[in-house]
Amino acid sequence: MEEMNSQPPGLAGLKNLGNTCYMNAILQCLCSVPPLVEYFLSGKYKAALHNENGESATAFGCLMSDMLLGEFDIVSPEVFHSVLEKRYPTFSKSSQQDAQEFLVCVLNELHEALKKSSKRRCITKAKASGGSVSETSIITQLFEGQLSYAITCLECKTTIDRPESFTVLSLPIPSKSMCSLQDCLKCFFQQDTLTWNNQIYCSWCRTKQDAVVKATITKAPQFIIFHLKRFEWQGNRKRKLSTDICYPLSNLDLSPYSSPLFYKDAEYSLYAVVNHTGILNKGHYTAFCKHSVTKNWYSFDDSQITRIPNSSVQTDTAYLLFYTCQDLFCTH
Ligand SMILES: [Zn+2]
Repeated sequence: MEEMNSQPPGLAGLKNLGNTCYMNAILQCLCSVPPLVEYFLSGKYKAALHNENGESATAFGCLMSDMLLGEFDIVSPEVFHSVLEKRYPTFSKSSQQDAQEFLVCVLNELHEALKKSSKRRCITKAKASGGSVSETSIITQLFEGQLSYAITCLECKTTIDRPESFTVLSLPIPSKSMCSLQDCLKCFFQQDTLTWNNQIYCSWCRTKQDAVVKATITKAPQFIIFHLKRFEWQGNRKRKLSTDICYPLSNLDLSPYSSPLFYKDAEYSLYAVVNHTGILNKGHYTAFCKHSVTKNWYSFDDSQITRIPNSSVQTDTAYLLFYTCQDLFCTH
């Protein structure tokens, strides 16, 4: 029998550099994505690197090796942090930052460093007229999904579809003391009416009109990340919603929000959570991550790692939820 506190090989705590718990929590969650880990530890990323902004991806790769190859119990993310801080001064050590903003920043950085454009070689008319060039990377392959916003003009009833890609889906929290992730999803995907300042320009009516808008998922990524919007502005004051939100560990159903044309029957399971405890800027971030081999859950609090039972994964402090449809996380 394994003891509750024994650390399996391939897990390392992260040193807090001074208010960097938001970064440590995100790094542990990214280290819980097996195909991303494989891509970096195998060295495959080196072939995709662009010189202009390869520094952060290289630092990320080195940090992943230090964290996952089992040589150290505690690793310092100093080098990775200083590379990012140079490019984004907002992430300096002096103040607490938002974990969601940091996550988006890291994913963008890695995408920029590793992207390749999948332009066709043959010269076509589409290309001559500036046809769309899609840029793909390990980040878009794993994390990028597509939404379609159907916008219907209430005057002429014409509907247009506006596609939009996402890597982190920011979900509003209904004003209740308790709710579920499904309630937040329903809130995000419900039909909205656009009036007054929010009217849209209708190209059929050739003027601004009232409209209804409804989003659907046209492509769900293998790894879908939800951001629970706990921090909201009220006038010029920011406040934190401490709503208790329950979320499933497995069998998350996205079919009610997906376009039937594109929907693939897939079950999503939780593999990581970022928690925020305390108030606004004085709070603390921790992560819960599911080990891809042992399937056990661990709590990562900077340098401290503790094994936790499945029943502790549900908390009222969840801020980011990481789900996957990859069956490597199936509980058999
Ligand atoms: Zn119209």
